[in-house]
Amino acid sequence: MTNIDFLNPPARQFSGPAKRRHREIVVRGGASFIATLTGAWNRSIAPSKLLTYTDCPAQYVRQEEGDLPVSVETVAQTIGNIVHAQIAIPAPERPSLAAAVTSAVQVSAKTAAAPSIPKREIARAVKTARVMVAVVNRTEEIAARRRKTKVLHEKKEPKPFFHYDPETRTYWYVKPDKIQVVETESGRFVGVDDTKTGVHRHRYANLVPFMFGLVVRRTHAWEKFWGIEFEGNIKTRLVYLRGADGKQLGRPEYVVDTIKPQLTVVQQNRLDGIHGFIRDVDASWARGHFRVQPGAHCTQCPYLGDCKIGREWLALQSGKKS
Ligand code: SF4
Repeated sequence: MTNIDFLNPPARQFSGPAKRRHREIVVRGGASFIATLTGAWNRSIAPSKLLTYTDCPAQYVRQEEGDLPVSVETVAQTIGNIVHAQIAIPAPERPSLAAAVTSAVQVSAKTAAAPSIPKREIARAVKTARVMVAVVNRTEEIAARRRKTKVLHEKKEPKPFFHYDPETRTYWYVKPDKIQVVETESGRFVGVDDTKTGVHRHRYANLVPFMFGLVVRRTHAWEKFWGIEFEGNIKTRLVYLRGADGKQLGRPEYVVDTIKPQLTVVQQNRLDGIHGFIRDVDASWARGHFRVQPGAHCTQCPYLGDCKIGREWLALQSGKKS
């Protein structure tokens, strides 16, 4: 079954109102777990949530069940949200970047009851966001001039849309940063972008644009968006605005892939891996408990503030380094 309804998404994960909660950790068989609140999964999965699950199943279930963040959203995360919002709007209509960053940083600090963020840090955030937006704009202009290509249709930051995957009996919930129909000398393709503004590079980051591309293909999203017929290739791009060392890049780094009507062996293996991860998510919901799995990702976790295991793991690492 294919579903690309923008207005009727699968039901939200029901667990009562979102609130700040502390979860007790249960140790079983030498591993640590937290229990679910409801036990019933709504069977929808977004690629980014799948990545969170592979890092720490406990963080995944807390987000799914509406646990409000304990730690303040970092300035880097705020910049990411602002940059995504800015590049989705045509340049003349964009709100002031400085005002957007200042208010977002202040709101996030207030929400988390954190001390106000120093002005110097906000100024640095504005500068970072400005450079990233400029890099994206300049790259798009150069690409359009150089290649003999024409963008026939484009949608930036579309509403999330859905596809039912019969293999795992789950709804795949996707929100690419950009979808385009591009005309080139050798024919048309549909382009799908996933843009990363942060420092962290996830080991499975390439699964995200791949799942976006699969859902775009399986749902024929172009028909729904623009009412056009198309049978060609989907080209996905993972776009990094920072290098692996965390420094801002003068031009984006791309990881590209082409999804043809028939998947390659590598892509089929990747899809099998995604199905495996989703079955694991399913099994955790069926058991009613999720493993607490600390690692470098804890630094980005919104629940670090009340997660003893994550804090102890990070303390151990900093002790080892010194
Ligand atoms: S702090 Fe680390 S271990 Fe704790 S929930 Fe977050 S990611 Fe998992």
